[in-house]
Amino acid sequence: MLLRHTKTEVMEREALTINPAKTCQPIGAMYAALGIHGCLPHSHGSQGCCSYHRSTLTRHYKEPVMAATSSFTEGASVFGGQANLVSAIDNIFTVYEPDVIAVHSTCLSETIGDDLKQISTKAKDDGKVPEGKYVIHAATPSFVGSHVTGYANMVQAMAEQFAESTGNKLDQINIVAGWMEPADMREIKRLAKEIGVKIQLFPDTSDVLDAPQIGKHVFYPKGGISIPDLKSTGDSKYSIGLGCFSGEPGAIALEKTCKVPFQTEDLPIGLRATDRFLTALAKAAGVKIPDSITDERGRLVDVMTDMEQYFDGKKVALFGDPDQLIPLTEFLVDLNMKPVHIVSGTPGKRFEQRMQAILSETVPDANIKNGPQADMYLLHQWIKNEPVDLLIGNTYGKYIARDEDIPFVRFGFPILDRIGHSYFPSAGYMGGLRLAEKILGVLMDRQDRDAPEESFELVM
Ligand code: SF4
Repeated sequence: MLLRHTKTEVMEREALTINPAKTCQPIGAMYAALGIHGCLPHSHGSQGCCSYHRSTLTRHYKEPVMAATSSFTEGASVFGGQANLVSAIDNIFTVYEPDVIAVHSTCLSETIGDDLKQISTKAKDDGKVPEGKYVIHAATPSFVGSHVTGYANMVQAMAEQFAESTGNKLDQINIVAGWMEPADMREIKRLAKEIGVKIQLFPDTSDVLDAPQIGKHVFYPKGGISIPDLKSTGDSKYSIGLGCFSGEPGAIALEKTCKVPFQTEDLPIGLRATDRFLTALAKAAGVKIPDSITDERGRLVDVMTDMEQYFDGKKVALFGDPDQLIPLTEFLVDLNMKPVHIVSGTPGKRFEQRMQAILSETVPDANIKNGPQADMYLLHQWIKNEPVDLLIGNTYGKYIARDEDIPFVRFGFPILDRIGHSYFPSAGYMGGLRLAEKILGVLMDRQDRDAPEESFELVM
């Protein structure tokens, strides 16, 4: 009984978070920055923050995540970190030769009040930024928001600080990627190619955090959007922001700075969200969806139909990031399951609104909460009050799953106790197939485990 102190009685809490269902802003900023080719993320704060962020990403992706730090000590903590950051920029360009340094702040530098824009400008004015190299910056105070907010802030910074409008419109569509796995980004590029649409996907962590093993360490792997491509997003004819929490702010920034019109779609997880995304992409580009994609869709529908009888009425508890939970919940409803408890540590009004709309007909009384008090403790309490057949979420769910003996599907970020998850997409029709297969697998394993001898079946 790992969480033996979790009480069944739920009390309203205003100031206390117990086992948060989120992590800190700079982790998201660091992840997003790795989606630019030749970029070295830089953490403006103490070494401890940077180590934590790097190690969380490294443990999830099982790849060495490189990042630099301003290495605050007592002096910088009191007098500000300008001197540290200017000399860090100088050293990084000299020693590590990135094309871009993407600086994000931390709790400490935000509390001091360091102005990253002013310090970056000073570094440039002092000649510390070589010709053709760039420093971008995003404020990521971790005492508000979550890793999703930090990701969105860095993506917005990319759009604001790189996109250029030359007045020469290009026949390409921007896809502002919400927080997805590298495999999901690769899948979106594959789908766009199959439809025949030229896209600029950013950030793009495919071939960065799932780069092939070639026998030697490559400091800047071949993946990531290039600087010229990132600049060209200002000339694209349209943007699709994927995820209203993590992708939309970048699309809004492109509209504001370069007048690129946009629409927001959910991350293409599950059948209907993938339908909406591909329809929007095809419409924006003025092309038709080819038969090959319709066939992929048909295969997913076929498998969903085959599986429906096993999913019917199964109660699910889920936790994680809002942009992933929204389409995932819709997909679970399409599979005839009942998502009854849902928490996300990321604040934002649209989460509850979207969830209620998705669940209004099938599970109108579902427990839905997001924000700081929507934590793992609350989720556990809800599960104690109304048990579920399945738990879906990141690695931190394993404690609840073990205590309550619930089948558990790992999904989201971070997954620290498994390998390979980031190599398989959850996005697109193929991703939906994989998700459904994973879910059914754990449910049937449980059925086998609990079946009495006389009803232990070969064919289920
Ligand atoms: S919460 Fe703040 S202090 Fe803690 S690791 Fe994140 S940025 Fe650093």
